[in-house]
Amino acid sequence: MGFFQLRSLPGSIWPPVPAPEVSQLWATYRELDRTQWLKPVELEALQLEQLRVLLYHCYHQVPYYRRLLTEADLGAGPLASLDELRRLPLLTRALVQAHSADLQARALPAGMVAGGGSHTSGTNGVPIKVLKTNRDALWWSAFFLRDLEWCGLDPRGRLAAIRLVAMQREDLPQFLEGVTVPFWNKVCESLVEMGPAHVMDVRQDPRRQLSWLRQVDPDYLISLPSNLDVLASLLAESGRRLPRLRAIQAVGEPLPVNVRQRIESSFGVPVKNLYSSTEAGYVASPCPGGHGLHVHAEGVLTEVLDADDRPCQPGQTGRLVFTTLHNFVNPFIRYDILDDVTLAPGPCPCGRGLPLWTHVDGRRHPTLHLPDGRQKSSMGITLGIRQVGGCHQFQIVQRAVDHVLLRVVPDRTWQPDLAERMRQVVHAEFEAPIRVDVEERTCLERPAGGKLRVVVVEIDGRRAA
Ligand SMILES: [Zn+2]
Repeated sequence: MGFFQLRSLPGSIWPPVPAPEVSQLWATYRELDRTQWLKPVELEALQLEQLRVLLYHCYHQVPYYRRLLTEADLGAGPLASLDELRRLPLLTRALVQAHSADLQARALPAGMVAGGGSHTSGTNGVPIKVLKTNRDALWWSAFFLRDLEWCGLDPRGRLAAIRLVAMQREDLPQFLEGVTVPFWNKVCESLVEMGPAHVMDVRQDPRRQLSWLRQVDPDYLISLPSNLDVLASLLAESGRRLPRLRAIQAVGEPLPVNVRQRIESSFGVPVKNLYSSTEAGYVASPCPGGHGLHVHAEGVLTEVLDADDRPCQPGQTGRLVFTTLHNFVNPFIRYDILDDVTLAPGPCPCGRGLPLWTHVDGRRHPTLHLPDGRQKSSMGITLGIRQVGGCHQFQIVQRAVDHVLLRVVPDRTWQPDLAERMRQVVHAEFEAPIRVDVEERTCLERPAGGKLRVVVVEIDGRRAA
């Protein structure tokens, strides 16, 4: 347990004694250190035990699941095996939106307290609200620490994070300039020694991002693959690397192999990609031995299904469906996250029994091309259009550097003046009064590949620049 420098109460150096408010976190993290070495069959048996508790709770407290469990003839349980779970239908985003009230628990087990909700980024145009409890927060912190250890990110170092930070437009100016906080994470800072974090919003011009990074001079950089890709080409062009940088963590989007190679060769450091979601928190992190991604099976039960919804075999690619094991206020059972993963062909050489994936192939946020030649992440425009609201779903199509098409599927709150507000969002993001067509649709067609992209950039990047 030597990876972290544990903080200790005054009067104790060895062995260290954590402060009371983080002792539970430390105990939970230590338990994860043990469970990662369990055999797959032992892990599945323990997941089944936790799942039985969750489903019993759902039957009594969550109306939506009471109906589903009754219809599937499972009742209050207990499940005989994990296979029996497949009698429940998949949960889609559309179902979450339609049944949000009935998906919330009427009461919680002792010691669990519901907190505020957060929204998904809405990459597929159907944002949903997710409620969580203090128990989810505990698991989030424990997996945060495990992820740092697996990725080899020593939190005593200096962190630079460039991601979607400002959720409200009025907060954007300060985060575009970059802010500094004295720790990587407030809760974990009371448990382990931590250095400062420098945070910038990903909507900043990548050239400005790079000059900020040179000032900050970080040990570690966290950002989105699409943004890191742009930074990598600017860095290569400049011929000057970031001298202290030790590793990069890619978050929020899948990391194609060619993009990883470009980033690693420009920055000259390894790229670690973790897979997480608003609905589940940490889902999978890089195997410390470099063999792919291990699922955090203590927090989430994952299924990888083929086109007929049957479990995939080792080595196969299929769609990911997960069940959150600890969210009792807003349970996600057999949730279709719309990402594909590839199962490893066999057990991991590192010895961990946690499920192993070789690859995640999911949604990503494309880069917009601004009329003045700059590039920008599309996360901000997605967030901005969602905040205007009035629609079930939307799609943003960049047709040319000065032309954007918005396809919206109006809901009953839609009003014509919302189209004007959407135009304003586009103008603000593109920093120019470009042509914006707003097209009302009854539905959005899915492309042949099955995945609906919320942002489509139809112009060639080279030509646009
Ligand atoms: Zn491994």
